[in-house]
Amino acid sequence: MAPARSRSLSATAALLVLCTTTACSPGAQDDGVDVLVSFYPLQYVAEQVGGEHVNVTNLTPAAADPHSIELSPVRVREMGEADLVVYLSGMQPATDEAVAASRPERLLDTAEAAGLEAGPNGAGAETSDAHGALDPHFWQDPVRLSDVARDVAAELSDADPDHAADYAANAEALVTELRALDEDYREALAQCAGATLVVSHEAFGYLAERYDLVQVGISGIDPEAEPSPARLRAVRSVARADDVQTVFFEVITSPKVTKILAEDLGIDSAKLDPIEGQSDPDSDYLDMMRENLAALEDGLVCEG
Ligand SMILES: [Zn+2]
Repeated sequence: MAPARSRSLSATAALLVLCTTTACSPGAQDDGVDVLVSFYPLQYVAEQVGGEHVNVTNLTPAAADPHSIELSPVRVREMGEADLVVYLSGMQPATDEAVAASRPERLLDTAEAAGLEAGPNGAGAETSDAHGALDPHFWQDPVRLSDVARDVAAELSDADPDHAADYAANAEALVTELRALDEDYREALAQCAGATLVVSHEAFGYLAERYDLVQVGISGIDPEAEPSPARLRAVRSVARADDVQTVFFEVITSPKVTKILAEDLGIDSAKLDPIEGQSDPDSDYLDMMRENLAALEDGLVCEG
């Protein structure tokens, strides 16, 4: 018995040594900052800025429409226990309610850093919903996402001051990538100023505002709101008047209405991802933004 016992003791000692010098699984999970985010773009930012120091959990399942998720009491409780909750007020009624109910100790509402506006570039203006409400879809503008990245770094530094320098450096690396993305959009869409962008729901107001496009949404800011026959007639007549060549559909919400509209008009339809979720785990925010840019270059009517 004695030799076996001493072997197991020395194995334990060896494990302890390992754990103090390198990451120790599964114990390492408990060491990082537990960050709960409400949907994908905020997950992307938290992971990029937090790097190895954070464990990020997304409240919205990968294939779900974040606007209309529901949260179980267990999830709401988890929110109260997270080291940091990063969300966007006004985007998801379920997380707004959960934040109010669970009162997280450290909470970052990204609405302020994102500089949300009421219906930029016509969002919500012609549909029944969202009169006077703020448009949440800020991540379609890389400049606004940069401001949010810096805000997340500041909040993480407060929560975990030992790694503040890393958070600041990670945020600046992300901002550099977002600046390059913004320049690519600016350059590629320079000839498209004033072009009409017909989309299935008004997720592209800030993109339209940044790159001088005119967004026309078949549905409003909330994709669940069914477009009325009058709304469909109005979109059809705008598309004809502006000689639109492509209408853009998205994957998570039903693309059917948009595809029928394209058939009616005898024009193309193409995918434009609102990036509210991550439909392909191998394709991150930057990949999806670049795919969207290629779709816009192909589909918009531009000069030159
Ligand atoms: Zn949306």
